[in-house]
Amino acid sequence: MVTRLVLVLGDQLSPNLSALQKADKDSDIVVMAEVADEASYVPHHPKKIAFIFAAMRKFADALRNNGWQVDYTKLDDPENAGSVTGELLRRAEQHDASGVIATEPGEWRLIEALQEMPLKLHMIADTRFIASHKEFEDWAEGRKELRMEWFYRDMRRKTGLLMDGDKPVEGKWNFDHDNRKPAPDDVDFNGPMQFTPDDTVEEVLDLVEQRFGDNFGTLRPFWFATDTGQARRQLTHWVKHALPKFGDFQDAMLNDNRFLYHSIISFYINAGLLDPLEVCEQVEQAYKDGHAPINAAEGFIRQIIGWREYMRGIYFLEGPDYTSRNVLKHDRALPSFFWDANTKMNCVSKTVAQTRDESYAHHIQRLMVTGNFALLAGIDPHEVHEWYLAVYADAYEWVEAPNVIGMSQFADGGIVGSKPYVSSGAYIDRMSDYCKHCNYKVKDKTGPDACPFNLLYWDFLIRHRERFSNNPRMGNMYRTWDRMDESRKEAVLSDARVVLKRLDAGESI
Ligand SMILES: Cc1cc2nc3c(=O)[nH]c(=O)nc-3n(C[C@H](O)[C@H](O)[C@H](O)COP(=O)(O)OP(=O)(O)OC[C@H]3O[C@@H](n4cnc5c(N)ncnc54)[C@H](O)[C@@H]3O)c2cc1C
Ligand code: SF4
Repeated sequence: MVTRLVLVLGDQLSPNLSALQKADKDSDIVVMAEVADEASYVPHHPKKIAFIFAAMRKFADALRNNGWQVDYTKLDDPENAGSVTGELLRRAEQHDASGVIATEPGEWRLIEALQEMPLKLHMIADTRFIASHKEFEDWAEGRKELRMEWFYRDMRRKTGLLMDGDKPVEGKWNFDHDNRKPAPDDVDFNGPMQFTPDDTVEEVLDLVEQRFGDNFGTLRPFWFATDTGQARRQLTHWVKHALPKFGDFQDAMLNDNRFLYHSIISFYINAGLLDPLEVCEQVEQAYKDGHAPINAAEGFIRQIIGWREYMRGIYFLEGPDYTSRNVLKHDRALPSFFWDANTKMNCVSKTVAQTRDESYAHHIQRLMVTGNFALLAGIDPHEVHEWYLAVYADAYEWVEAPNVIGMSQFADGGIVGSKPYVSSGAYIDRMSDYCKHCNYKVKDKTGPDACPFNLLYWDFLIRHRERFSNNPRMGNMYRTWDRMDESRKEAVLSDARVVLKRLDAGESI
């Protein structure tokens, strides 16, 4: 019988993976490997590496219990070839294998490496997504603007989620308008379910501590789910206790609460432990049962079948050069406080510290705090991209890059967003209580105590006036500036220059 190798990557931990479906349990061999190349192409957060390795080890055991032969290479195995392709070549020689079956990886880097490998490769589509590449390309074809909302409606029609025949339930596609409430005083949800590490996880934690202990990020306490059973329990716990309020407070931030009503399932969906459609069906059922209101259920389902699918579509449509786009020509170095949280800006310091501890920050922290700051300050988007890719446990390039290069940094020139997501301190003040605990004063528009977001906001708009002043969604901002008296404008821009100079000098602000 001819033996083929079946590659299963660390974010392909799904029993229904297309490569496994194409393979033959009796003759083919599953190859899984913890390799240095993947663990170190950016300095990943130790929690992220530990999560992936632990989940891989458990998935390999589950496959073996299910009758598969699995060749698993641990990171510290002396034979470890150090790369995915190196491991495939080694195993191919060992078994005299005729070729490799692989589900398409989520990064151009790996797709290209597999294609260049001197082995017969059968690369098949990743069917764990709702839209195929072809469907997204067909949708994008001939459109002047690739707005998520239109794509999302097609995904609602395709899946039938929250549909009443061919109409959206309750008569509206999008309830985002109801989902912008500021942070509540009391959050009656204690965050994600936390799991005590078992022996497999402990062994991985020791390995990661030893090999990646110097990377940015706190490894212990480690609380992530590492198999599908645990991930499902976490999802069910969240649906029961937090989903009803998810919509209302989706954009809120709190100084002393890291998770609010967020689901904390992106790690699990992206690695393959949870199936996106099943997750949405569970949420839809909660709505049908009267447990969750429409703004919560629709808001959540839109994130998954809308934003998540759309981001993937953009990544593959735009091609491998997407991560080097930089239309605003931003070239400032990433400030050191992105790595040590040592800044007087409370919102940034809290978000970075939480990222260090949990390998998690929620959407608005990523977009309107760290992302907003990086964009306003003109940080090189590639450096920003590498930071996000390294520090978040849910970060894989197919989803991280369109969120960072596109949505957050506008480096793609407006493919993902019709305008840059920039704001002064007023937005952060409205949506959080960070400013109450800050050294800066959010109400000060100039002067030594002025919130740096207030200063850099105008500096950004003026630097890029030519590009943005004709944008219909930004006209108001420029009109406000034009109405300011000249001495105030001068003071704002000169104070902004001081902040930027300090950043250039490597000082913390
Ligand atoms: C600058 C920036 C970088 C980001 N990088 C990543 C990343 O590397 N990986 C990642 O999965 N998400 C990324 N996101 C999207 C989003 O912030 C995370 O998916 C979310 O914070 C995960 O937390 P959660 O599971 O609690 O999400 P919830 O708020 O509970 O949302 C539910 C789910 O919706 C999906 N989702 C929500 N928003 C998005 C989005 N914009 N793109 C894709 N999926 C989305 C996720 O699967 C998430 O688990 C990024 C957003 C920004 C602004
Ligand atoms: S005052 Fe400015 S820097 Fe401080 S927390 Fe508010 S927005 Fe952030």
